[in-house]
Amino acid sequence: MTEDIQDLVIAGSGVAGLSAAVYAARADFVPLVLEGDEPGGQLTLTTDVENYLGFPEGVGGMELIQRGKEQAEQFGAEFQHGSIESAEFDGQPLKLSLSTGESLRTRALIVATGASARWVGAEAEDELMGYGLSTCATCDGAFHRGDDVLVVGGGDSAMEEALFLARFADTVTVVHRRDELRASEIMADRARDHGGVEFAWNTELLAIDGSQEEGVTGATLVSHPDGYPTEKYEAGEDVEIEELDVGGVFYAIGHEPNTDFLRDTPVDLDDDGYVQTSTAGDTWATTATAADGVFAAGDVMDREYQQAVTAAGMGSMAALDVEEWLESAEAASTDSTGTIPTEADD
Ligand SMILES: Cc1cc2nc3c(=O)[nH]c(=O)nc-3n(C[C@H](O)[C@H](O)[C@H](O)COP(=O)(O)OP(=O)(O)OC[C@H]3O[C@@H](n4cnc5c(N)ncnc54)[C@H](O)[C@@H]3O)c2cc1C
Repeated sequence: MTEDIQDLVIAGSGVAGLSAAVYAARADFVPLVLEGDEPGGQLTLTTDVENYLGFPEGVGGMELIQRGKEQAEQFGAEFQHGSIESAEFDGQPLKLSLSTGESLRTRALIVATGASARWVGAEAEDELMGYGLSTCATCDGAFHRGDDVLVVGGGDSAMEEALFLARFADTVTVVHRRDELRASEIMADRARDHGGVEFAWNTELLAIDGSQEEGVTGATLVSHPDGYPTEKYEAGEDVEIEELDVGGVFYAIGHEPNTDFLRDTPVDLDDDGYVQTSTAGDTWATTATAADGVFAAGDVMDREYQQAVTAAGMGSMAALDVEEWLESAEAASTDSTGTIPTEADD
C-alpha cells in the first residue's frame, strides 16, 4: 500500500497559517492546512479588529479570517479538519498523526498552532470573550475610553496591560489573588507609581456580567485577607464578595503555546513551550526550527508581539523559507538519485 507525500502541511488555520497558505499556494505548491480544534484561530474570538492594515473602518475578526481562507483556497490551498497529536521528524518524509486517526506524510511542515491565552474560569467568560472581555489590551484597549476596567493577573504582562489601558480607561484596577506581585521590580514600580492604576489585593474574579449586545457591564470579585480567595469561597469559608460596575475585563495570566505534539521531536522549545527558531548565517531571522523541513510562524514562536499583523508577516516568511528549502531539497535529491520520491511504502 502506498500513501501520498504532501509537499507542505500547515498546522493551524489562524492568520499565520492562512498567510503561509496564500504565499505557498501562489508559489504553485498545494499546501494542506490542518484547521485544528479552533478553525480560524484566536481572531474568531473577537468582534472588531481596528489595527490590521488595509481596513480603515475596522473589520470583524471572523470576516478577516473568512476572507483569508477564501484567498488561500482561490490559489489552490486545501483545508482539512483535525489537529496534529504526535509527530516524527527523524528523516524524510515527516510523519504526522492526527486527532482524526489519520496519518500524513509531508516533506515540509509549518507549525502555526498559536498560543492560547489562559482563561480564569469566571462565570460567563465563554459568552463575553470578545464582547468587552479580552486577552489583549493592545488589541482592544482603545474600545474602552472612559470605562472602568479590570486587569486580572500579577505578572509583567498584567502590569504592561494595565499601564497601556490607563491611557484610555477612566480607572484600571489590577485584580490579583495574592498581596504581592510576581512582576519584575521595574514593572511593578511603574504600575504602582502610575496614578491611574489601582490594585485589588488578595482578590479574584468570580463572574462577569453583561451580554453580547451590551458588552461587559459588571463583575463579581471575591477576596480574603490570606489570598487565593476562590478556593476559600468554594470551601465555604468566610470571604468578602463585591459587585462592581465595569465596562471591560482583561485577562493577563499568560499564554499556553500549542506545542505538546513537538515535545518528543528535535524542535527546540523554550521553558514555556514556545518554538525556538534559529538565526542562520547572514540572515537576520528565519522561521526554520532545529528539525530539518519544519518551520514555525505566528504566536507559537513569538512571545513578544502576538498580533494578527505580525503573525501574518511571519506566515509569509515561513512560506518563503519553505519554498527555498523545498527547492534545495529537490535539487539535492535529484543530484543523488536522479528522481524525487512522490509516494512512500506504508
Ligand atoms: C479576544 C482577542 C482579540 C484580539 N484582537 C486582536 C486585534 O484586534 N488585533 C490584532 O492584531 N490581534 C488581536 N488578537 C491577537 C491575534 O488574534 C493573534 O495574535 C493571532 O490570532 C495569532 O495568529 P496565529 O495564526 O499565530 O495563531 P492562532 O490565531 O492562535 O491560530 C492557531 C491555529 O492553530 C490551530 N491548532 C492548534 N493546535 C493545533 C494542532 N496541534 N494541530 C493543528 N492545528 C492546531 C488552531 O485550531 C488555530 O486554527 C486578539 C486575540 C484575542 C484572543
